[in-house]
Amino acid sequence: MRYLRLVGLIGILALTTLSQVPGRTAQPKVRVVATLTNYGFVAQYIGGPYVEVVSIADGTEDPHFVKPKPSYAVLVQNADLFISTGLDLELWEPALLAKAGNARIMPGSLGYVSASAGIQLLEVPATASRAEGDIHIYGNPHIYTSPWLMKRVATNIAAGLIRVDPAHRDIYEHNLQHFKDEVDRRLFGHALSQMFGGDLLDRLVESGQLISFLQSRTYQGQPLIDRLGGWLRAGWVFRDRKVVCYHKDWIYFATLFGQQIVDYIEPKPGIPPSPPHVAQVVERMRREDVRVLIAAVYFDREKVRTVAERAGAVPVMIPMGVTAQLPTYWDVVDFWVRSIANAFQVRPFGDSAVRPFGSPGVREFGWPFETLATLLEP
Ligand SMILES: [Zn+2]
Repeated sequence: MRYLRLVGLIGILALTTLSQVPGRTAQPKVRVVATLTNYGFVAQYIGGPYVEVVSIADGTEDPHFVKPKPSYAVLVQNADLFISTGLDLELWEPALLAKAGNARIMPGSLGYVSASAGIQLLEVPATASRAEGDIHIYGNPHIYTSPWLMKRVATNIAAGLIRVDPAHRDIYEHNLQHFKDEVDRRLFGHALSQMFGGDLLDRLVESGQLISFLQSRTYQGQPLIDRLGGWLRAGWVFRDRKVVCYHKDWIYFATLFGQQIVDYIEPKPGIPPSPPHVAQVVERMRREDVRVLIAAVYFDREKVRTVAERAGAVPVMIPMGVTAQLPTYWDVVDFWVRSIANAFQVRPFGDSAVRPFGSPGVREFGWPFETLATLLEP
């Protein structure tokens, strides 16, 4: 009997040792459910082989209004970690969590990650009220439009993974650092990232001083701004340019890239535009020479086209997150930057005359008007 017990014990020890061999994941994976594919991408990046990630809303779906499917509740019921913006972006979240009834992932518990924790929100209303149908009552919840803020999102997700799976803390922390370094390289370029490091770049972006700092200093006889690379360099053609957006979902991108959002087609987030409001925006776009109209692909394409046409602007329709054709968050930001940069480099209507769509020389940019191959090539 004692002998048998000993054999059993040796067997268990052997199994434990085996499961700790890198690359082997004998233990169950952490089951992660993310509300958006952008968060799911980050969770997979940081969790690697130790997580199994399912995301609910695709980058081509309006994250405010996802139609609930019974399968979502089953997913959430079995989840170890639930990642959400943590604001009122996912209006369907409270009902989903109530239906799933999983105490481990309810807000405030170890298994709930608020992606926006620690982020200073913009466009915070004076009073948090839905009286006028507003759906951004805590401030703008579309944080994922800034790749720089995604470093903070990744920090929050890594902390969540460590809470529910502390055994792999070192790996999650290592992958988090890797993620932040990759954002820096893609956003600022290799040279600046190497020269300054993430912390100094973070402080410069946070204080809004990055560009003026680079423009006012030289290094080895060259202006520092010449060292700027990555998305910020690619987006230089639309820095300080005016745009109009369909929905109030672009402020974090615009702030990072120095775009000026003049107005919105929706009078308030989530409120469909009335003809008088549209006429007002069109008039303003003409008056202020706004050349580009940015809209997520899930808005009414015909309406976006018509408004752009009347205003003499180029419509740019973009997915707001990871989707089948843009399988990484890096692809998504590449697509945004290239679509908008391309749209600013054409003057499709000459200097003032507005021609209808379909006229020679008139082009739309963004999804899916240009092939992905064209937009994504370096
Ligand atoms: Zn919104």
